[in-house]
Order: sequence, then C-alpha cells, then structure tokens
Amino acid sequence: MNVSFLNKIFISQFGAINPPWIHKEVFYKLPFNFCDRWCERCNLSGICRVYQKEKESEKKFIKQGIDPKSTEAMLFHISEGFEETKKLLEKDMKRLKIKITKEDNMNFEKEEDKKDKLVENDELTKISKKLCLSLVKLVEDLHYYFLEETPIEIKEPLKILNYYMSFFSVKIHRAILSNIEEKEMKYEDTTFDSKNSAFLSCVSIVKIINSLKTISNFKSLHPKISQKILNLISLFENLNFVLKERFNLEY
Ligand code: SF4
Repeated sequence: MNVSFLNKIFISQFGAINPPWIHKEVFYKLPFNFCDRWCERCNLSGICRVYQKEKESEKKFIKQGIDPKSTEAMLFHISEGFEETKKLLEKDMKRLKIKITKEDNMNFEKEEDKKDKLVENDELTKISKKLCLSLVKLVEDLHYYFLEETPIEIKEPLKILNYYMSFFSVKIHRAILSNIEEKEMKYEDTTFDSKNSAFLSCVSIVKIINSLKTISNFKSLHPKISQKILNLISLFENLNFVLKERFNLEY
C-alpha cells in the first residue's frame, strides 16, 4: 500500500473509511461494515443505519429511566440484537426446510473450537496481543506522567491511542478468523471480510504510529519513556508491513 497515500487520507479520517477495493455505492450503503465505530467523529453518521438505530434505542432507554451508557442498557441491546437475528434465522430455516440436529450442533462447536485454536496459535495474533499490552502500559505511564496537566499538544494523540489501543488487535483477530472461514467457502466471497478487517487494523496502526511520533517529539519527556515510544513505533511499523504482505493490501 502506498505509504504517503495512507498517511494523507487516514490521519484525519475517523469513523467510516472506504477501502480502495470497495465500490463507493457499497460503501455508502453499508458504511458500518468499514468503520472503527468512532461515531462522534464519523462523517457518515447522518446516513448510517447502525448509528440511527443506536440513537433511537438511546432515546428509548432515557424514556425508561435507564442510562443508555450503562451495562444494563448494553446487555439489553445485545440480547435484543440476538433475538432479532434468531427470528430471521428461524424464518429462513423454515423457508428452506433446514433442520439442525444435536449432532450438527456438536460438529459446529468442534469446528469453532478448532478455528479458535488456529487463530490463537497464529504468530500474528500473539504479536498483536503483546503489542496491545505494551501500548496499554505506555498509555497508563503517560497518564501518570502527565498527571498534573496533560499538555495541549499531547491530548489529541493520547485520545487516539486510547481509542485504538485494543481496536487494531481485535481487527487482526477478526482478519485471521475470516481468512480461515473464507478458505472453507465454496465460492469466492465478494465482501473479503479478512482483507477489510486487516485494512481497518492497518489504518488504525497508521494513526497509532503518528500519535506516538507526535508524543515522542514532546521536549520534556523522560528519556526512558521516549525510548519506549521509539521502540513501539518501530514494532508497529513492522506489524503494518506484515499485515500488508499477508492480506495483500497493495493496490
Ligand atoms: S456512524 Fe456508522 S459508519 Fe460511522 S462510525 Fe458509527 S457505526 Fe460506523
């Protein structure tokens, strides 16, 4: 992937980001499939169905006297989503006369376990988890370091690190899992979920690297923290190189 292109368009772009191989029509119809869920910063919240639905349920929760940001609201939202999916699946199964036996269930679970193990044992998963932990630790250190008052030029990069410190790793996990599932499909899937997930991870890593660079330029930083940041920058650059190669992100 062209580095200057990446740097130019993605540093200031949050929320939905159009992967270059996804047609604009598809992107604008389903932006939530190509986003980092940072809705407050997303330019497409006005046309995004997921966002609109979330706002509607927020209003419902407030009416019922429930804090929409509470765990109670979150669990209710998740179970509502599962119920909806279950109903749709049951309807389709009835239409297609599909029956699921106990044996099917057991086989499915076995297959899922197998896939989980493959993902967990993948070197890329292991590396991304380690990097995620190192980044979390660094962000904690920076919070303690700037305890008195965070300098204005550090606030935005810190916010970005906070937002993406787990996201990049979650997306790598998903890219690896989807890649395994795509190989099992009889026909080539047109959505390329593995590639899209790897792309979103790659974009978030670009933002992480740039935020780390901005912080490392801060003059009164302790040399030990500076060194930690420089090490992390180099590791994240390597990670993006591997992601680009493995998921064929060149275009
Ligand atoms: S508004 Fe929609 S597309 Fe944008 S970040 Fe939120 S969920 Fe994603």
